[in-house]
Amino acid sequence: MKIIRSIKEMKEISTNIKAKGDTIGFVPTMGYLHEGHAALIDVCRKETDIVIVSIFVNPLQFGPNEDFDRYPRDEERDRRIAERHRADYLFLPTVEEMYPEKASLSINVVDRTDVLCGRTRQGHFDGVVTVLAKLFHLTNSDVAYFGLKDAQQVAVVKALVDDLNFSVKIRPIPTVREADGLAKSSRNVYLSPEERMEASHLYKSLQIGQQLLIDGVKNTGIIINEVRKYLKNHTNGSIDYVEILSFPELKEISTINQPVILAVAVNFAKARLIDNILINGHGVIVSDPFQS
Ligand code: AMP
Repeated sequence: MKIIRSIKEMKEISTNIKAKGDTIGFVPTMGYLHEGHAALIDVCRKETDIVIVSIFVNPLQFGPNEDFDRYPRDEERDRRIAERHRADYLFLPTVEEMYPEKASLSINVVDRTDVLCGRTRQGHFDGVVTVLAKLFHLTNSDVAYFGLKDAQQVAVVKALVDDLNFSVKIRPIPTVREADGLAKSSRNVYLSPEERMEASHLYKSLQIGQQLLIDGVKNTGIIINEVRKYLKNHTNGSIDYVEILSFPELKEISTINQPVILAVAVNFAKARLIDNILINGHGVIVSDPFQS
């Protein structure tokens, strides 16, 4: 596995790979890699000739009171994991390399962001699409792999590539979980032992919502109430949201007759945890929302 730190080298290498006719798969991350990231790399390895993984903690997508400075970082460990999962290139640019001078323009996401995490994380998705637009160009990628753990991000990135005619294909990958259901996340290290126990109830609350739909309850208000009640009774964290929206449009609906996202966010003392499931009108999990 080759480590790349400069934009110039990344561009040259990806251009040469394309010239040879190989396909490029790309896994963008913020590092502190875990099995969730590894799942993306593994699928990428199977589906494309060349695998590029990037690690970049992108300051543009963090709000002033968010955890940019204390976001967990461990380059050595990440290198070993990326190598073990057979990445070909690990792109590790610095902030100065990615943003050498004040930007002359910004990308403003105007849809799919007034709900879920976008409501409280002002400007977050503008930062996400800005860095991804750069990374898609630099890596020349044919397919980019994203975790459905961050389903709103998947919906927004899909809008980016559709609206701006990027040729990269967005490939969503199901959420990888701990044995008790907690979605794997670099931020789980912030949880106290008690919070870690409570955190498994996020997924359990989603399963309760799913079961209601399987039992024929199609009214979103009823399901949301039950999920909220469960979270209130089983965690001491403060509930940021419980929402059911169409996917990937992320519009409010009152009756479930189509694929939807059921999503929750709970604030614990040092970590804000999110989780979601994508389900169809019968409560069956949708694993690839962009398949025909
Ligand atoms: P991050 O490093 O948190 O920005 O995540 C990089 C990529 O890994 C994103 O596409 C995430 O959605 C994905 N990811 C993070 N956690 C998981 C997980 N538990 N299962 C699947 N994908 C994940």
